[in-house]
Amino acid sequence: MDASDAELAVEAACEAFKTWQDVTGEERGRLLRKWAKLVKENAEALTQILAGETRKLKNEAKLEEVGLVTSIDPLPGKKLLIEKQPLGVVVVISPWNFPPMLSSKKVATALAAGSTCVVKPPEDAPLSTLSAVQLAQDARIPKRVINVVTCDRSNASQIGKIFCESKLVAGISFTGSTAIGKILHQQCGPHIKRISLELGGTFPFLVSNSANIDEAAQLGIQSKFFNCGQVSIADIIPGEGLAPLINSTQFKRVCGIVEDAISKGANVIVEGQPAEDVGKLFYQPTCGIVEDAISKGANVIVGGQPAEDIGELFYQPTLITEVTAEMQIYTEEIFGPVASVIKFKTEEEGVAMANDTEKGLGSYFFSQDVSQIFRVSRLLQNGVVWVNEGIFLPNKAPFGGVKESGIGREGSHHGIEDFTYIKFICMYWK
Ligand code: ADP
Repeated sequence: MDASDAELAVEAACEAFKTWQDVTGEERGRLLRKWAKLVKENAEALTQILAGETRKLKNEAKLEEVGLVTSIDPLPGKKLLIEKQPLGVVVVISPWNFPPMLSSKKVATALAAGSTCVVKPPEDAPLSTLSAVQLAQDARIPKRVINVVTCDRSNASQIGKIFCESKLVAGISFTGSTAIGKILHQQCGPHIKRISLELGGTFPFLVSNSANIDEAAQLGIQSKFFNCGQVSIADIIPGEGLAPLINSTQFKRVCGIVEDAISKGANVIVEGQPAEDVGKLFYQPTCGIVEDAISKGANVIVGGQPAEDIGELFYQPTLITEVTAEMQIYTEEIFGPVASVIKFKTEEEGVAMANDTEKGLGSYFFSQDVSQIFRVSRLLQNGVVWVNEGIFLPNKAPFGGVKESGIGREGSHHGIEDFTYIKFICMYWK
């Protein structure tokens, strides 16, 4: 076979996955047991084929076919122990949008698992991490268990390479852009180094017709404008309900509520926060994406400009409609207080739109229809789905993405797996 056959095979598996994933566990178990039974029944023939193609001794071939392929029972007198061991030295690299929260989550988990850390905080916001590490020393966490390397951006790639290539480093835990995540992934590749990546994602926010629209819009505003929108977890607010109700009333209502909140200063984000603080950005990256959307026919309902009258790093809280798939705003993280609203007419269309991205960190879904909630949450290709809920990140829950949004999970007992090796010890006694 050639490359085109490999493509066909992948397409076939992809097609079959659509239905095989919904076959019940019981039925899958029944089929696998039946397969095992057939292997046992045909052991003689299979042994001959295996011995022939590998030149194995017949007894060894038989043991592999019958004993190892189909048997899962441990033998009497043997004890199978599974031990979790710490990885060793773990490098933690975090971005500027939530420096202490993101580093501390990783560092605390690594330490809890028995690993030690080298932390590289973001170049533009290293102080909160350094202060937290100072407190770790005050708490008598032994010196050298947590180490910090600060650097400016020009040294970041060189330092990153050292981390990825060092034999002393067992794993890298990174939160940041997909672009840098891919570089680290590639650099760790030749060394088969453990890597966990929490990368960017567009967070579709789906509102169905059955949803409590006022609540959905309010939570949409809070999620979108949290941290002035400089967050990977709120990006599209599609309106217009799901089938069977198809009219523009919900869409208009969602837009109306968002517009109203923005005109009132959008300081719904943090109560008591002065309106002029809202829209203050770390960087000023939003303009190009908004201009691109406008040039391709998007409609700015409110905002859409840097708020230069307030200061250099301010951007007006913005609501944009008539967004299409050709616009950067459809797929790229905005990292600014810009909400875009897209209409969809059917559940299928809404889900397809939400999944139409290489990223898959998370999504929001608003509906009062229980069967639709179960169906849609399952179909959304994300690591997290918030149902009738705004931004909420409990440490008890495993957080992380699928597709290009990352590898691994943070939080909960699943998060600790990233910082441990599993060792299987097989003991025999008489
Ligand atoms: P952001 O846009 O949020 O700054 P980045 O992915 O650019 O996200 O940066 C996240 C973190 O990764 C920062 O601490 C930055 O210094 C670090 N970083 C940037 N480039 C590299 C690199 N080549 N290797 C390792 N770390 C890097």
